[in-house]
Amino acid sequence: MFRMRIWAASTVAVVLGVGLTASALARQTDSPEVERHISAARDAAGTEHPRFFEYLCRAPQAPRPRPAGRAAARPARREPPPQSDWYAEPAKVFDNLYFLGTQSLNAWAVTTSGGIVIIDPLYDYNVEAEIIAGLRTLGLDPADITHVLVSHGHGDHYGGAEQLQRQFGASVLLSAPDWDMMLAGAGSQPKPTRDLDVTDGQTLSVGDTQLTFTLTPGHTPGTISTLVPVRDGGRSHVAALWGGTAMRHNAEFYDQYIAGARKFAAVAAEADADVVISNHAIFDGADEKIEALASRGVSDPHPFVIGEDATQNMFEMIQHCAEAGQARLAP
Ligand SMILES: [Zn+2]
Repeated sequence: MFRMRIWAASTVAVVLGVGLTASALARQTDSPEVERHISAARDAAGTEHPRFFEYLCRAPQAPRPRPAGRAAARPARREPPPQSDWYAEPAKVFDNLYFLGTQSLNAWAVTTSGGIVIIDPLYDYNVEAEIIAGLRTLGLDPADITHVLVSHGHGDHYGGAEQLQRQFGASVLLSAPDWDMMLAGAGSQPKPTRDLDVTDGQTLSVGDTQLTFTLTPGHTPGTISTLVPVRDGGRSHVAALWGGTAMRHNAEFYDQYIAGARKFAAVAAEADADVVISNHAIFDGADEKIEALASRGVSDPHPFVIGEDATQNMFEMIQHCAEAGQARLAP
């Protein structure tokens, strides 16, 4: 597990597709304003979101220089990494929510009375082992997949959608701006055929279950953040999934990102969201929490149920990290 965590931390900048190098963090002296936001973010992160805080609040890294003449070139299709580098076991997390992710990327299955909704179907080379075989391992039938929600149009989240659309006839959902971005972009991952556009505040009802979408532009032009109702035995909870996390270091980005975090925090508060899930384990601690679930006693709390306060604290931390970034732009 320790090895896995190191791997996740060292490669997450690449996996997130934000064009950052994996070099050492930028060295700079932070202003008192930056320090104030980092300190407030650390307080908000508390003991619940420490890895997320370390990732999000660090100083921005220098962008990787592009060799001249390569800017418009289509990225070469690289050999997929060996399965031992990314494979993670599937796991049941709630009565109606299943983890189908890799060691660093989270994919989720929401089971309903009307079929299965997959959230963020990983890279194309992960989908057979993690999603299709993963569902079967958990006693579920991939033929029941009705919808595939892609939180945002980056290859690590949409890469498996094309196969699920083709093989199982699943409807694929992205926001209109992210359909446009994905379909116009180069990218080495297969692209699903344009299907359903998600709009702000829209809901998706599948059988007995309703997902609620909030558009939170920033990480991409039309990142979708989602509320998922989940059940643990007799108890109902609401999981909040912040759809795109890594930041870009420019003023316009920070304004959008902060506004998005405020908006989704309010939606999550209104719905009494008390669970945080993400599309990367470094942000929600899915790897550690799934380990804890395996040894959970009958009267133990559910490790993913962090409560409404800690859920809101995550959004406060996100805003302070972004405000720290914004303050770093000041001359
Ligand atoms: Zn992304």
